[in-house]
Amino acid sequence: MVVQLKSLRLPLAVFLMSAFLLAVVQLKVHRPMLIAERFYVGAGWVQIVLMASWGAFMAFKMQNPQHTARFRQIAWITFTTVFFSQLALGLAGYTIFLMTGKLHLPIPAMIIGGPAFRHELSFMTILFVSTVLLTGPAWCSQYCYFGALDGLLSGKKVKGKRQPIKYKWLIKSTILPLFIITALLFRWFGLNPVSTTLFASAFGVVGLLIILFVSPRKGKMIYCTTYCPIGTVVSITKQVNPFRMVINSSCTSCMRCMPACKYDALNIDDIKRGKPALTCTLCGDCVSTCKPGAIQYRFPGLSAETARMFYLFLTISTYVVFLSLGRI
Ligand code: SF4
Ligand code: SF4
Ligand code: SF4
Repeated sequence: MVVQLKSLRLPLAVFLMSAFLLAVVQLKVHRPMLIAERFYVGAGWVQIVLMASWGAFMAFKMQNPQHTARFRQIAWITFTTVFFSQLALGLAGYTIFLMTGKLHLPIPAMIIGGPAFRHELSFMTILFVSTVLLTGPAWCSQYCYFGALDGLLSGKKVKGKRQPIKYKWLIKSTILPLFIITALLFRWFGLNPVSTTLFASAFGVVGLLIILFVSPRKGKMIYCTTYCPIGTVVSITKQVNPFRMVINSSCTSCMRCMPACKYDALNIDDIKRGKPALTCTLCGDCVSTCKPGAIQYRFPGLSAETARMFYLFLTISTYVVFLSLGRI
């Protein structure tokens, strides 16, 4: 197999950027953050090379639009598996696998519910805001430890076309404020932590049931695109980031891209309007399905292909950092 030099540019850039970011953490943060460093002094450097190589491999595969969807899913599931394995080991008493030892429920809604209840920003909330600024909606296509399961289980083929989700925005715009108001009310009425944990757990269990039973039947990520409050926040706030996905005038309305989108962002109306719906996470799964190349990434001043490569560079480098450091 002949590997063209051009195809090594993105992997090399991802390797260097993720190795640099992890090296800064290794050198500057007093308590070892890399798990290998916690076991053996100096082993963190080996982990950095391994993690950066994994990122380079993912970049090599994902730069080919034909492989983007498959390897994005592999990368995302890998992150989720590593995250929950460390949590399980931490809960089993191996506290070396925990970030701080201060446990909280691992459901994304806590990113917004926690600060609303405690009236203070958490590390997760600051991390979340930073990633939205840097990579737009990539949180919901690569970094979230929960959404990967929705993506995986909604991926199987459904009979007929994937139908648009009815009342999506009505449901989204009801759940988000309700969740925040409930967290605020819990605080104002001074409910004890057990009650709030029970409420958050029930919210998480309903979500899990949606992932297990509704998303597979619909062939779309119903949990992420309708129920999760953080998904709604991402859909709205991603606009602060300049990356966009557009459908240009060469679109022939063949509708071949529709089944590729599990985020309910490519329905007939969206295609006619020339841009995916707000629930688009710029995942890139649809790009290879469009023969005329009408569906494209856009970034001011860059060609569509360069914008796609730049987006992959940013998101995969950030993903490697999340994979290496993400734990509770
Ligand atoms: S919508 Fe929620 S669960 Fe889905 S990926 Fe985004 S934050 Fe995670
Ligand atoms: S429109 Fe394309 S890029 Fe956007 S979420 Fe759907 S498949 Fe992903
Ligand atoms: S696959 Fe391309 S040409 Fe066909 S509807 Fe989608 S964007 Fe238009």
